[in-house]
Amino acid sequence: MRISPKIKKVWKNCVDLQVAHPLGYFKPSTIHEVIAIIKEAENKNYKVKAVGSGHSFSDVALTRDYLINTHSLNKVLRTDRLSLKSSEDADNLFLTECGIRIHALNAALDDQGKALINMGAYTGQTIIGAISTATHGSGITLDGLAGFVEAIVLVTEKGRVLHIERTNGISSAPIELDHIPVELVQSDDVFLSSVVNMGCLGVIYAVVLRVCDSYLLREKRTFCTWNEVKSKLAAGDILHNHRHLEVLIDPYSVNSGKSHSCLITERDICPPGTRTNWFRLHRSVGYTIASWFLPPFLLHEILRVIFNNFPKWTPGILRFSLKTLRDACYIGKSFKVLDLGSANHLSAYSTEIAFTSDKYLEAVEALLHLFEKTKRDGQQYITSPFSLRFVKTSDHYLAMQYGDKPGFVCMMEFPVLNGTIGGEEMLTRVESEMYKYGGIPHWGQYNHAGIGDQTLEKLYPNFNKWLKNYRDLCPCGTFQNDFTERCRIIS
Ligand SMILES: Cc1cc2nc3c(=O)[nH]c(=O)nc-3n(C[C@H](O)[C@H](O)[C@H](O)COP(=O)(O)OP(=O)(O)OC[C@H]3O[C@@H](n4cnc5c(N)ncnc54)[C@H](O)[C@@H]3O)c2cc1C
Repeated sequence: MRISPKIKKVWKNCVDLQVAHPLGYFKPSTIHEVIAIIKEAENKNYKVKAVGSGHSFSDVALTRDYLINTHSLNKVLRTDRLSLKSSEDADNLFLTECGIRIHALNAALDDQGKALINMGAYTGQTIIGAISTATHGSGITLDGLAGFVEAIVLVTEKGRVLHIERTNGISSAPIELDHIPVELVQSDDVFLSSVVNMGCLGVIYAVVLRVCDSYLLREKRTFCTWNEVKSKLAAGDILHNHRHLEVLIDPYSVNSGKSHSCLITERDICPPGTRTNWFRLHRSVGYTIASWFLPPFLLHEILRVIFNNFPKWTPGILRFSLKTLRDACYIGKSFKVLDLGSANHLSAYSTEIAFTSDKYLEAVEALLHLFEKTKRDGQQYITSPFSLRFVKTSDHYLAMQYGDKPGFVCMMEFPVLNGTIGGEEMLTRVESEMYKYGGIPHWGQYNHAGIGDQTLEKLYPNFNKWLKNYRDLCPCGTFQNDFTERCRIIS
């Protein structure tokens, strides 16, 4: 099969910070085309990179050679293509192509009375783009998206198609794909190496997700001080009292450094028969009305002008915005409540770092100190509150939430408004400071310092197992890019 690329086509990520001018820009709509693109690239000695929605802020998705936009690979597939060991499983399995956006996937699941068990705070990413960088939400008993993957279909070097599952996987034979030869690989080691792989192993064509019956969530947001929350977090109980717990911290203090404002978000599944009304079906009135009447681009422009020209106003604006998020009760379908909503549509980028449960409180204190220092010494501000999300450890070898024991990690995210002076410098400072506390960067978020002076073997205890599987599957390095070299993943 011969496929023609679009030429002179520029690819940019969602905030225009990452730009690729690939030699060939492809938008396949079948697996046959994906196989043909990979074979052609290899014949001509080019590299290949699949991209999703470009919602990563790092250079993880860039390539100079062949770029595969996966948005036309967005069909939900029938699960009867799978040969399942147990037919009981079929009801809670969902098979889809890679490039479906999460909001479309949620809608398709909702039509069937089903839902994702957990998700991140946004739904514009493609399902595989999100899974490939270990995208997560919150909940110390809940996995990130990769944790709900039962199988993937990977097109790797030479156009080989692999159906990969855990050792005791769900299938008794490979998936049926229009007469394409597919090899079934059932191995925990290969599976845990290939679900979160940042596109290094090839193009993931399809995924089987474990899902659940649809459910309602109730969200409560309360305003308090960091000192109060800190002691509760140190005691630990607060983390176990809710399905989801998230903390948003004002980086700047009131009372001359003595206290920082804070917003706690708690979410729980509603018991059956829960009643609701208009007020409960929306987030706080102020937030809802602002999102109706103030388009994100206008709000972005107003804030950008203020932050750049009147930087001293930044702390006051951040405190005010935290207060508007207070909300006694918001009830809705799980995927609506888990989505942060209109704040996601402001053009912003962020760094996100994972910390072990024994280190994160110390890291927060160091950051608060850093923010005061840059404010004092150069009027450089971080232009958003930063968040702590508590998530279950993952067994996927390259997930930044990796843990070899059951437990949780704290994901700390630092957004800055796009276009604010000193934004990238501020995030690089944050990143460097955080590596002192053993922080591990989110692959898809802004990361400039790579992995700092750490080694991947130290950050990821199973990195060498991953590398062995990588070398077995991809001896020619077809899916490498500058990011994999910069982060010393593959050199
Ligand atoms: C507004 C916003 C909110 C966000 N919220 C969260 C959050 O709550 N939690 C969180 O953890 N992250 C969050 N992120 C980060 C985001 O989830 C990740 O960066 C995610 O990887 C982006 O998915 P994408 O579809 O845009 O993929 P891209 O950014 O285009 O690609 C990401 C990686 O996936 C690879 N890839 C894509 N498709 C394929 C494929 N079919 N086969 C093989 N490799 C592939 C690419 O090569 C690249 O390495 C957020 C980002 C934004 C912009």
